[in-house]
Amino acid sequence: MDRSPMTEPLHIVLVGGGHAMLPSLAHAQDWTDAGIKVTLIDPQRWLYYSGMVPEHLGGVYAVDDIRVDLRRLAHRAGATHVTARATALDPEARVVTTDEGETIPYDVLAIDVGGVNPALPDAAVGTKPIYRIRALSPHLKQVLDAPTETLGLTIVGGGAAGVEVALNITGRFAGAGRTADLSLTVVEQSGRILPGFPEGMRAYAARLLRERGATIRTATTVGQVRGADGDRTQVDMRTGTGEHDTVHPDAVLWSTGAVAPPLLRESGLSTDERGFLHTTRRLRTPTHPRIFAAGDCGTIPELNLDKVGVHAVKQGPDLRTNLDTTLRRLAEDGSAPVASALTAFRPYPVAPLVLSTGARRAIWTAGPLWMARSWFLRLKHWVDRRWIQRYAPEQWGAAGWRSLVAAEAASDPDGNE
Ligand SMILES: Cc1cc2nc3c(=O)[nH]c(=O)nc-3n(C[C@H](O)[C@H](O)[C@H](O)COP(=O)(O)OP(=O)(O)OC[C@H]3O[C@@H](n4cnc5c(N)ncnc54)[C@H](O)[C@@H]3O)c2cc1C
Repeated sequence: MDRSPMTEPLHIVLVGGGHAMLPSLAHAQDWTDAGIKVTLIDPQRWLYYSGMVPEHLGGVYAVDDIRVDLRRLAHRAGATHVTARATALDPEARVVTTDEGETIPYDVLAIDVGGVNPALPDAAVGTKPIYRIRALSPHLKQVLDAPTETLGLTIVGGGAAGVEVALNITGRFAGAGRTADLSLTVVEQSGRILPGFPEGMRAYAARLLRERGATIRTATTVGQVRGADGDRTQVDMRTGTGEHDTVHPDAVLWSTGAVAPPLLRESGLSTDERGFLHTTRRLRTPTHPRIFAAGDCGTIPELNLDKVGVHAVKQGPDLRTNLDTTLRRLAEDGSAPVASALTAFRPYPVAPLVLSTGARRAIWTAGPLWMARSWFLRLKHWVDRRWIQRYAPEQWGAAGWRSLVAAEAASDPDGNE
């Protein structure tokens, strides 16, 4: 299977154009200029930037503001975008198979397929991969455009993602003077929303949600979610005391954390108990020096990091450097570099998180600390825009700044807080 660099070009295959893959994709022209073949496999054309998605649902950003055109990035670099889902990885034969039946050989493989929602019911909108959540947008717009329409929304999962989405949607209805037209419920199976976050932050977020008419149901587990007659969905729940309840919202958002896509475990590569690929700090699999993984789909056992975009984004440049080093070494003498030639990933000591409250404040939190301030929201907007502008200069050159400024100017000066 080894190919001679003299006869055939090296081929790097990027499976999944997630947050951690963007630096590699954006700089892939360095590889194609050197005669290396680059292929991106991703069924989606667009990557939605997770930091901005809740505010998209909150009406701050238009859809074009929050997404990166993977196909354009690939084509601009002279790479091929295969619009398909990888269904199998064979580390011994060094091939990737897609759901289109294509078999794609590689010399170097980088994987960034993220996670999937565990047990996602057909009748619910998923949050992983994040493009799925966009399905809520038309619903929200339809209701907000029609003064007589109402929306019943159940968010299953009261972690940071579910709560930030709830804050932004309730904030949008409050800003439109339509609080009464939204019936939003957050269902969390543990005894409190935002488990793992500071108690004061939890109380603050819960207060905001309740002030805007939302219901919070803790110690409650969602069982079946079924498409019922008409437009409504049937959600069966069980409380901590064993009582059963059934509600019929218009839409259900499934924000229950992440497990790994099955193809990782099925590859025979070493994985953790949730199916995420083991890697070293060099973002390389311990057994196959030509296979790398980054973002949510990888697990570095000694770090055991949360599955958050902050880590995926920080890993991106290291992944790119290590792929570059590997390709150079293979081109030179056909061997993979030793570990010490690669860059070791160094995570933030504590991963900071900034959640928009759907009004004119954001909550900043790191470890046991938290604060809610208006300038955190401005800082968040600045950081998010700077990040996405690197990969989406076309969108952000024009409409992005304008729509943001307009949204901030139009929002309630009292911030509903
Ligand atoms: C609502 C919400 C808000 C969030 N906000 C934050 C935040 O503010 N801060 C933070 O740190 N984290 C946040 N997160 C978490 C963050 O979204 C993830 O940690 C991050 O997206 C992980 O990035 P990734 O690079 O691992 O992969 P992803 O960005 O998830 O991308 C995976 C890519 O792989 C593709 N793919 C999937 N399967 C296949 C396959 N079989 N073959 C080929 N391609 C495939 C997908 O189409 C996608 O393009 C949020 C999550 C949600 C749901």
